[in-house]
Amino acid sequence: MQTLHTLSDLKHFIHTCKREHKSIAFVPTMGNLHAGHLSLVSEANKTADVVVVSIFVNPLQFGPNEDFDQYPRTLDADIAQLAPYEVDIVFAPQANEIYAPHRQTAITNRGLSNILCGQYREGHFDGVCTIVLKLFNLVEPDYAIFGLKDYQQFKVIEAMINDLNINVSLKGIPTYRENDGLAMSSRNQYLSPADRALAPKLYETLKATAKTLSAFNIERCITDIHTLETQAHQNLTQQGFTAQYVNILDADTLLPPSKTSNKLIILVAAYLNNTRLIDNIVITLT
Ligand code: AMP
Repeated sequence: MQTLHTLSDLKHFIHTCKREHKSIAFVPTMGNLHAGHLSLVSEANKTADVVVVSIFVNPLQFGPNEDFDQYPRTLDADIAQLAPYEVDIVFAPQANEIYAPHRQTAITNRGLSNILCGQYREGHFDGVCTIVLKLFNLVEPDYAIFGLKDYQQFKVIEAMINDLNINVSLKGIPTYRENDGLAMSSRNQYLSPADRALAPKLYETLKATAKTLSAFNIERCITDIHTLETQAHQNLTQQGFTAQYVNILDADTLLPPSKTSNKLIILVAAYLNNTRLIDNIVITLT
C-alpha cells in the first residue's frame, strides 16, 4: 500500500493500471476511518483488481458554521487501519493540491439538493459533487463504492453519474452500525457520554416507524405518512433530540410515495446538542 499526496503521483499510478488493463475500485472518504468505511473497502477488494481509497476533508462541502476545522484528521491511524486490507493506494492530498485559487468551475445539483439535508446545508451537495467528479477524473475508477448511510448523497451521486454520462459503476453498501444500533460516523466522537447513551434512540425510532409502515399497504402508507412523520418527530423531541426532519419518501426517487412505490425510506437528521446525526431505514412493501 502506497500513500500518495500529489496529483502527478496519482496520475502516474493510474496510467500504469490502465496500461495493464487492471480494473479500479474507488472509495472516497474524509478519513477518521471506522468499521463502516472498512466495509466499503472490503467490497472494493472483492470488486476490482486495484483499490484506491481517498482521504480528503473537502472544504467545499462544509458550510461557514459547520465543523470543518474541528473535523477529526487522523491520517496515520487511518493508514494503519487500512494496512490489513488489499488497498493499493491511499490518496491523501492537501487542499491546495486539489483546488486552484482561481478555479471557475463547479458542479451544481438542481434537484435532490433542495430537499432533506440540502435544505439545512446550503451548497453541501454541490461541494460533494464537485470533489467526487474531480476525484473520478483523477482516479478513473471502474467502480465507486459509497455508503447508504448517506442515502441522499448516494442518490445525488447517482444522478450526477447519469446526467453527465460518467463511466463508472456505483455500488451502495448498507449502513454499518454499533452493537446498540447507532450508525457509525466520524461525528459520533463529538457526543458526550450522556448523548452517546441516547443516540441509539434515533435508529429505534426509525425502526418503530418502519414496523408500522411495513404492516400497511401503499394506499394506507400514503394516507398516514404525515401523521407518522409528525409522531416520529415528536418522539425524538421527547427523547431529547432536536430533529431537523423526519421524512418518508419513495426510496428510488426520494419523491413523496405514489401508488406504484414499492420501496419506501424514512430519513432523519437530528441534533443531540451540537452533534448532527443522520440515519435512514428502507422498507420494502410486499
Ligand atoms: P465520510 O468519510 O463520512 O465522507 O464517508 C465516506 C464514505 O463512507 C461515504 O460513502 C459514506 O456513506 C460511507 N460511510 C460512512 N459511515 C458509514 C457507515 N456507518 N456504514 C456504511 N458506510 C458508511
